[in-house]
Amino acid sequence: MTEKLYYKDAYIKEFDAEILSSEKTDDGYDVILSATAFFPEEGGQASDRGYIANARVNHVYEKDGVIHHLTDLAPEAKAVHCILDFDERFEKMQCHTAEHILCGFIHKLYGLSNVGFHLGDDEVTFDVDGVLTREQLDEVESLANAAVFSNARIDTFFPTEDELKKLEYRSKLDFTEGVRIVKIADYDSCACCAPHVACTGEVGLIKILDFMKHRGGTRIWMVAGKRALLDYRKKYENIKKISALTSTPQHETADALEKYITDSEQIKQELKNCRLKLAEREGSAVPATKGNLVVNFSEFTIPELIAFSNVAVQKVDGILVALSGSDGDYKYVISSKNTDLRTEIASINKTLSGRGGGKPNMVQGSFSVTLAEIESYFAN
Ligand SMILES: [Zn+2]
Repeated sequence: MTEKLYYKDAYIKEFDAEILSSEKTDDGYDVILSATAFFPEEGGQASDRGYIANARVNHVYEKDGVIHHLTDLAPEAKAVHCILDFDERFEKMQCHTAEHILCGFIHKLYGLSNVGFHLGDDEVTFDVDGVLTREQLDEVESLANAAVFSNARIDTFFPTEDELKKLEYRSKLDFTEGVRIVKIADYDSCACCAPHVACTGEVGLIKILDFMKHRGGTRIWMVAGKRALLDYRKKYENIKKISALTSTPQHETADALEKYITDSEQIKQELKNCRLKLAEREGSAVPATKGNLVVNFSEFTIPELIAFSNVAVQKVDGILVALSGSDGDYKYVISSKNTDLRTEIASINKTLSGRGGGKPNMVQGSFSVTLAEIESYFAN
């Protein structure tokens, strides 16, 4: 069994230990120490990182009480000095302790239990076994932050079996031996093996970000401490920019943006109608034509080509070819009041490297040839 220094003191940033073994793996080494302050991946929390002498610790896991450190190199000495990435570890201590405080209140107020936890590099989520509303979560969030402001002590201890029987605490598992209790003043008691901060004040701001129904319960996204600050900083810069762009006070940007989007949808619709009308006008400007007629509008959409053709085809005795695009890439709408285009379209497509089809009086598709080739094909 590896001696777990993080049980004694969650604030150990550096420590000395002896290498008990160091075995080559596929992409580095698996190192076992006589004692460690590196917390392994456990209970949904990502493992610590840092250095064992010159070797970078990328991942830490526990197997049968032994803690394994996966490193890039084999540490050079037998007696080694080890250093944790403590900033990262402290962020996790803040988020983890915040999760205890939130779950403690959720349990107290609504009788729900924590049934899942994930503390990764980017995201912190936890699951509870019942449905909660935004109002309920707001209340929990306020209480949790009040607990932070009270700067209450956090104690961790291993009670005896008898002591444990008398204790009221939250637990995901039914252990009776070696249970470690994390007690956050009168706010919460919970069985847990991870490192926590020593006073609630160190947690900093606790913010519930989002929540959704999940497996009959609720999944909750949260941040705390330094991560909450970074999240606020990023969001503040974002809202400041939106506020400037919409010329609106920061707390009214959502409404301003909603109006902006509604207005912009309306403008898009009006523009679409105008362009269709313009296409119809182009159609009525077509001169009466005895034979075929090919016209190219480089920027018309298919609906615009159709609107044009519906009007123009009445003036053309032969076949009307309305195009949009440039050489090698034309969209077409071909129409005629006298010719059944379904019988023609196969040979048209074959000659002009095209694809498409449609109704007897109108077909649509694409050609991948030049305008000159199309004009030459339809020349009378
Ligand atoms: Zn914990």
